[in-house]
Amino acid sequence: MTRPSLPFLAPPGPDNSVDLPSLSTPIAQVFSPELNPHNDRALQQKTVVSWLDDNGYSDLASKVLSCGTNYAYLRCPNGHEKYAKLHCKLEFCPDCGARGSRIHKTRATRARDRLLWAPVLGYAVFTLPGDLAASHLSKDTLKRLEQEAGKIVMTHFGAAGGSNRIHFAGDALGHLQIHVNVLFALENTNGIGKVDKAILDAARDAWTVFVNSHFNRTEKTTVFHYSFATTGPKKANKIKYVFRPIIDAFKFMVLPDEDKHYIVGLRGWHNTRWFGKLSNSTYKKYLTGKGIEYQKHQNDDAYLSKICPVCGEKFRYIETVHKYDLPIYRLRRLDNDTLVDFEVFNALQTGKKSGGIFSAANETEGGLRPCSAPPQTPPKSAPVAPCFSFMS
Ligand SMILES: [Zn+2]
Ligand SMILES: [Zn+2]
Repeated sequence: MTRPSLPFLAPPGPDNSVDLPSLSTPIAQVFSPELNPHNDRALQQKTVVSWLDDNGYSDLASKVLSCGTNYAYLRCPNGHEKYAKLHCKLEFCPDCGARGSRIHKTRATRARDRLLWAPVLGYAVFTLPGDLAASHLSKDTLKRLEQEAGKIVMTHFGAAGGSNRIHFAGDALGHLQIHVNVLFALENTNGIGKVDKAILDAARDAWTVFVNSHFNRTEKTTVFHYSFATTGPKKANKIKYVFRPIIDAFKFMVLPDEDKHYIVGLRGWHNTRWFGKLSNSTYKKYLTGKGIEYQKHQNDDAYLSKICPVCGEKFRYIETVHKYDLPIYRLRRLDNDTLVDFEVFNALQTGKKSGGIFSAANETEGGLRPCSAPPQTPPKSAPVAPCFSFMS
């Protein structure tokens, strides 16, 4: 039976007032976000949910549908309160899979704590031959790719450690394009990220040898890119880029069904893999030894921070609350995902002004930035608009 095409996937109709370079160009590049039907979250959600429902993933469909409807209620021993929105964390969810989503921001913030200190942040991309990159590689194979990429940057670049993350889609729409991204800390380079061509050649050769032996191929060479960042803003941008969602709702929906099933089958798999001295078991000791506060950015993030900004005690999880049951009359909205009581709100505002606990909001490293200054005293009604944005 032929299904009627869903509105989300329908090609844009002719519009003589706009000079469309090509209908195959992602429409996002042509229209402003407000006019772009592909950026309509509600429509995206409807399309994703209906596909999941029709393909035997009703449990996931309801997770996507209820994403963001509940909040974790957190309270410190002195009664100061915070409500943090809960998410489904599925990459094909229009909210969680969007760039700048809370999930993206959380991943990037944690990564900044582990990587931003590095005098030089190296960035390498290891690619696969086209047919392999578009195939359904097993979780074990993906893990092997990450392990090998980490090994190569440690061996050939002398990296202390770093993070691997696989991206499943490139710029081209409609097929998978699996490649490994590696961010790694370089020390003892006197702050210089440039490396000899011989090193790049050796790293590429090592990757080619691995690809040939692992996949039983006879490739002459493989495509390998290296770049680096030495300033705070550039390092933060690389982190934000590498830790972006692996596939968003739009790229997911334009994939053939068999690729969609593959992506859905990867849920629960840990894509981000830390290695070397920055691996999960060693990074705290390693960074503490260098005098680096390994939770600074997380503590500076109002949503993630476990510390009450009023009294310094720890927030504890109390219960989960539906959004309609939020005691909105005694809360202030900090951003789309975080509400706090008036005392916490004022403490955060004071801290921000004095460059204290929330000074991260004023950093210029491409992460959080303040919107126009919110009022210092809470109004009697209506929560204020979101105050932080991840998008720059
Ligand atoms: Zn979600
Ligand atoms: Zn407190």
